[in-house]
Amino acid sequence: MAASVERQAGAIETGIECDAVVVGAGFGGLYALHKLREIGLSVRGLEAAPDVGGTWYWNRYPGARCDVPSLFYSYSWSPELRREWRWTNRYAGQEEILSYARFAADRLDLRKLIQFDTKVARATFDEKNERWIVETDRGGRLSARFVVMATGGLSVPNTPDIPGVADFKGAIYHTARWPQEPVSFEGKRVGIVGTGSSGIQAIPMIAKAAKQLVVFQRTPNFSVPARNRPLTDEDHRSFDDGLEAYLASLEQSDFGRVPPTAFTAEVPPRDVQWKHYEKLWQDGGSGGFLKAFPNILVHPEVNEVAADFVREKIRETVKDPEVAAALSPEGYPFGVKRLCVDTDYFDTYNRSNVELVNLREEPIEKITTDAVDTAARHFELDALVFATGFDAVTGALLAVDIRGRKGVTLKDAWSEGPKAYLGLTTVGFPNLFAITGPGSPSVIGNVITNCEYHVDWIAECLTHMRRRGLGTIEPERKAQDDWVEHVAEVADRTLFPKANSWYLGVNIPGKPRVFMPYIGEGYRTTCREIVADNYRGFTFGTSAVREQAAAE
Ligand code: NAP
Repeated sequence: MAASVERQAGAIETGIECDAVVVGAGFGGLYALHKLREIGLSVRGLEAAPDVGGTWYWNRYPGARCDVPSLFYSYSWSPELRREWRWTNRYAGQEEILSYARFAADRLDLRKLIQFDTKVARATFDEKNERWIVETDRGGRLSARFVVMATGGLSVPNTPDIPGVADFKGAIYHTARWPQEPVSFEGKRVGIVGTGSSGIQAIPMIAKAAKQLVVFQRTPNFSVPARNRPLTDEDHRSFDDGLEAYLASLEQSDFGRVPPTAFTAEVPPRDVQWKHYEKLWQDGGSGGFLKAFPNILVHPEVNEVAADFVREKIRETVKDPEVAAALSPEGYPFGVKRLCVDTDYFDTYNRSNVELVNLREEPIEKITTDAVDTAARHFELDALVFATGFDAVTGALLAVDIRGRKGVTLKDAWSEGPKAYLGLTTVGFPNLFAITGPGSPSVIGNVITNCEYHVDWIAECLTHMRRRGLGTIEPERKAQDDWVEHVAEVADRTLFPKANSWYLGVNIPGKPRVFMPYIGEGYRTTCREIVADNYRGFTFGTSAVREQAAAE
């Protein structure tokens, strides 16, 4: 394999030949660049943004903060990085996480491998030469044996096509494409559409700054308090003390949101559950809730108590009973849409400058030059914020025109929903890997450690291929079909499909309704067993052997 290829600053990449192209320089892409270089591959990174950080580069809206504790939302594989970085808050804010990504990129000396401000437009598999031709929007062209799509599960913003939106003369923002320069809402009348994790974090912050905030809510969400606070020396000490056990647990971890005991566990008495939820509410964070009882995401009766508990908290917090009722999620289970984590979200509706508009009762009809018109009212606004989420999991993969064997596009291959063996590879697209792709735990749990696991898996696989002189890897059709079926079966045994969530793609018009993440236990174990069983379900091509022999 070729020696390392370094980027010429500012140059348009063209005619580059390397072993692997890594698309995306978020946490997954950065680690992929590091790891693949470490195993001796020549690698090149392509990134649409002018900097590293991925989702944490773009999502810089007020209040943007991680909902995984920062001590865990870090690379687990590097003791050096861990020693040299000290998180300040229990839940890190966007700025601090972006600084961490920059620190990791610099410390690992990765920037020289990355072409920034460059979008991948097309990737075409050249069957004859068994190489991917990667073309960028800047006219660049690279040739690589392997392509690693580290494009993120939540990176393509979803902006609803509301009639008249183009006529609006005020400022329009999307939480997932927030400007670099400071945005001031002082003295402004602001409207915000969307009350998912992003909206729920942004609303309290915008409410504090704006003259008036109108929240356009279609579906109320379950949210629990973050109780963010500065980390103490004791927090750091206790994390360090538990580090070995944590790392061992990661190694053994099966990630699954739904443990095997979920289907046999007893229904705990309501008062036992209630007491436990009260403690979790005071502690803050979502992790405890989602694991409060093994069957909380499976058994409707258990789940309903958690739902009641949060609704009761909303009633206790929000002074106006009508507003409290409108904010209370009904008709879908607790925790099966991504559970939101907030700071003062429900309390914000007690402010006199905040108004909730229930779009279920008065849908938005149109946007005009200076207002949003619902079926019942006219709201004059100076600025509009879309907190309307993402084309999740598959959006960024399908945004690239990927063409595999016989020119088949990934879009066509996935027209009925994504099909990927272990969420990593797809039939007909040899040597193309997705990091946290559909059919893997992907967006469930701690995405950084999910990314790390995939990168390690790919690095081990490419080392295996090199040792044996193997040219290509792709899954067998049956193995892929069985896995896709298994992913769906696991989801169907839970309450997850009972909510219209982005996990199912229902937020994007025309997207097939398919449950995309793998939520069962045993993902890592399965991957390990497959590798140990000589990569069961994968087919390797041996042409590289012939190439090598011919060259010698
Ligand atoms: P989201 O969860 O998909 O929420 C989008 C919101 O926009 C929903 O309330 C949705 O309503 C609303 N919406 C969409 N189209 C609309 C339309 N045409 N009219 C009115 N309302 C519309 O997106 P998100 O809040 O950006 O979060 C996405 C994911 O990113 C999260 O679930 C989480 O995984 C991640 N995230 C994490 C953090 C964190 O770590 N704390 C922060 C932000 C985001 P419906 O529900 O009715 O569709």
